[in-house]
Amino acid sequence: MADKKIIAVLGSTGAQGGGLCRSILADAAGGFACRAVTRDTTKDKAKALAAAGAQVVQADLDDVESLKKAFAGAHGVYAVTNFWEHFSGEKEKTQAKNIADAAKAAGVKHVVWSTLEDIRKFMKPDDKRMPMLQEKYRVPHFDAKAEANALFSGLPTTYLVTSFYWDNLYTFGLGPKKGDDGKLAWAFPMGTAKMAGIAAEDIGKAAYGIFKAGSEYIGKTVGILGEALTIDEMGKVLTKVTGAGPIQYNAVEADAYRKFGFPGADELGNMFQAYRDFAKEMLANRSLDATRKLNPAAQSFEQFVTKNKAAIKTAMGV
Ligand code: NAP
Repeated sequence: MADKKIIAVLGSTGAQGGGLCRSILADAAGGFACRAVTRDTTKDKAKALAAAGAQVVQADLDDVESLKKAFAGAHGVYAVTNFWEHFSGEKEKTQAKNIADAAKAAGVKHVVWSTLEDIRKFMKPDDKRMPMLQEKYRVPHFDAKAEANALFSGLPTTYLVTSFYWDNLYTFGLGPKKGDDGKLAWAFPMGTAKMAGIAAEDIGKAAYGIFKAGSEYIGKTVGILGEALTIDEMGKVLTKVTGAGPIQYNAVEADAYRKFGFPGADELGNMFQAYRDFAKEMLANRSLDATRKLNPAAQSFEQFVTKNKAAIKTAMGV
């Protein structure tokens, strides 16, 4: 590891950081080493990373001193926070500040910050189409990450704008399900808008492309996606690959979706509404060419569904 540039990877046991660790470890001649950061070095995913050649270290996003130790001697940091663990925009910003402060203290040469856009910039403060959440956010896990961009100023940072994970179809319970009539259906407040999606594993691969490109992306914002599809288009691909369906798409109103009652329904209702109402702006922030330049193997939705067919079928109950 001594002659390699160390990337300290936050979220290494998760989707984004895990994808980056696997990319670094799969490219032995690439000149980079993976320092996988986790709160619990004894968990199975941490052990798997160690077995694959990563240096696994303990740190907590809530403890800036632990981050300073985890970043010491590192060339780069992959910075990602996990909104869904605490559902708080303010906490996400505090954790991002801890990351930025520790990266400054460690003098790292490159930070890739996994961010999203500020949905508040697309509408006036008194726009009533969607409620404010947590007092000041439209979509807290987007807006807080965008606000946190400023915390990385003064650091050599690349701002990586990600997209909706298609993995949510089987890991987050967002895929089609059988109704009482035995027919497959799903509901989103997406109308006929196209939503930018991506295989979560491809985010880490793109991040690796950014580190490998040296200084090319420092100070830049890069938006990535695998493909932009309407919900009906996604349903047709699911049916083509799994053989199950047809899948009924219920294009509900965002207000109805926000009242579905599951944890985070209001947050996701606002998010899908933003993907629908500001589809033009959100698609303009992401580029397939830029994605493919960083990760030539970036998957289409059909490739993703084919690869994950068994898990998707299980989640769909077919
Ligand atoms: P994930 O798979 O849910 O895993 C969470 C990771 O965060 C784990 O590796 C966990 O590490 C780490 N973590 C959480 N709290 C931590 C703390 N206090 N200290 C240190 N590590 C901590 O995560 P992910 O999906 O890669 O990333 C989550 C982020 O992606 C969210 O903020 C979300 O907004 C964003 N995002 C999601 C989507 C989507 O469609 N789901 C799309 C775009 C962006 P340990 O448990 O091992 O410590």
